[in-house]
Amino acid sequence: MAILDYPSDRPRIVIVGAGFGGLNAAKQLGGDECDVVVIDRVNHHLFQPLLYQVATAALSPADISYPIRAVLRNLKRTRTLLGEVVGIDTTLRRVYLHEDEIPYDYLILAAGARHSYFGNKEWERIAPGLKGLDDALEIRRRILLAFEKAEREVEPARRKALLTFVVIGGGPTGVELAGAIAEIAKQVMVDDFRSIDPTDTRVILAEGGPRILATFPEELSKKAESALRDKGVWVWANTLATEITEDRVAFKGADPVATRTVLWAAGVQASPLGRMLGAATDRAGRVPVEPDLSVKGLPNVFVIGDLASLNGKDGKPLPGVAPVAMQQGRHVGKNILRAIEGKPLLPFEYRDKGNLATIGRAAAIADLGFVRLSGFVAWMAWLFVHVLYLIGFRNRAAVMLNWTWAYLKMQRGARLIYGDVERLVEPSEHSAGHEAEPEPASQHR
Ligand SMILES: Cc1cc2nc3c(=O)[nH]c(=O)nc-3n(C[C@H](O)[C@H](O)[C@H](O)COP(=O)(O)OP(=O)(O)OC[C@H]3O[C@@H](n4cnc5c(N)ncnc54)[C@H](O)[C@@H]3O)c2cc1C
Repeated sequence: MAILDYPSDRPRIVIVGAGFGGLNAAKQLGGDECDVVVIDRVNHHLFQPLLYQVATAALSPADISYPIRAVLRNLKRTRTLLGEVVGIDTTLRRVYLHEDEIPYDYLILAAGARHSYFGNKEWERIAPGLKGLDDALEIRRRILLAFEKAEREVEPARRKALLTFVVIGGGPTGVELAGAIAEIAKQVMVDDFRSIDPTDTRVILAEGGPRILATFPEELSKKAESALRDKGVWVWANTLATEITEDRVAFKGADPVATRTVLWAAGVQASPLGRMLGAATDRAGRVPVEPDLSVKGLPNVFVIGDLASLNGKDGKPLPGVAPVAMQQGRHVGKNILRAIEGKPLLPFEYRDKGNLATIGRAAAIADLGFVRLSGFVAWMAWLFVHVLYLIGFRNRAAVMLNWTWAYLKMQRGARLIYGDVERLVEPSEHSAGHEAEPEPASQHR
């Protein structure tokens, strides 16, 4: 194992993760006071809020990602390393990659979170979640392939199962996915097939809690539900998935559904790196941090973004959203500069600028604190904010061009299937035939 020790008389800050938190910390620390090493296991920063658009064929991977090395190009004391951190020793002050180790004076952990299957690890293969580009491309492959297979399928029950999509989890990602699949089926591909009618497609959004988009005021989540229904999505609240197999989903609170495509948008599990600090973590693996974002007992280790757990002014945990990670990244950068100068560290305060979620074309909700919006106006606000925060002029231009084209032509530009086109497994004979009809959504609330 090689020690990557870059000799210098300046303190070295190692940042693990170049997501929203890590990149903002790196930019804040990008002056002459210290050396910075940014490590990520992928070579690109990913704009996760638009990932569902790659998964549903509206955008291409390159539209929402940007090389980390290029983002940090002008920070001359900042190195970018491609590699996966697999261990941390807080006593020796080192992080370990597969073949190298890197000493640090200060460590910022910004490694984010992945989806959690609540102990049902075997569901992951059948019901992919959406976190990285690989996930998005796999989901896109499955959605498009299900229509292709349905076109070739002669047996009605199997065809019906192929045209049934179940999205589990009614948070923003589940709502976005369900709305987009319904639009693909009922607007985009409506004239493209000869044996099937894509408008027969059933999209079921199953949420375990009493309502979708539970972090929004009830009035807005009701509007979102009705916008989803208008798009043809069946919204099932109080409906917990209890079993997922290759050809069906069983629920507590609803009849089983025969389906060949299940997408997971239900739970979050923080990066395992948090546990490697040896500090306490909560049930989701997040590291509780001090008000200055350091870890208790480890004053030179900071955890930010989705991997950190901190309560806001209202006493409630800060949400796992990009603005929290970005603000924490900037704050931790400032605090480390203060520590280097021997000044006391400052507590972090989150400035909440509002909450947005989109349901699809011309439909969104926005809770901006002083005003609540829905419909077209909220959708315009959603479009504006997402283009504004994308990194890179090319990405902004590409996304706006794709959106304009999609809006005018009702088309999606990235309807490509990569990989094995036979890989969707055929349903077993006994399961496709005896499925119950989905109940109207109101009966599941
Ligand atoms: C599908 C989806 C949609 C979302 N939509 C929204 C939205 O609309 N609005 C919003 O505000 N938030 C949204 N979020 C949440 C938001 O993206 C996160 O809160 C935010 O990305 C957290 O930033 P972070 O820096 O903590 O982690 P991330 O941005 O996840 O970055 C973590 C980085 O760490 C790297 N990494 C992880 N483990 C290792 C390792 N062992 N070694 C090296 N590198 C590692 C990863 O490759 C990644 O680049 C969404 C998230 C998802 C998944």
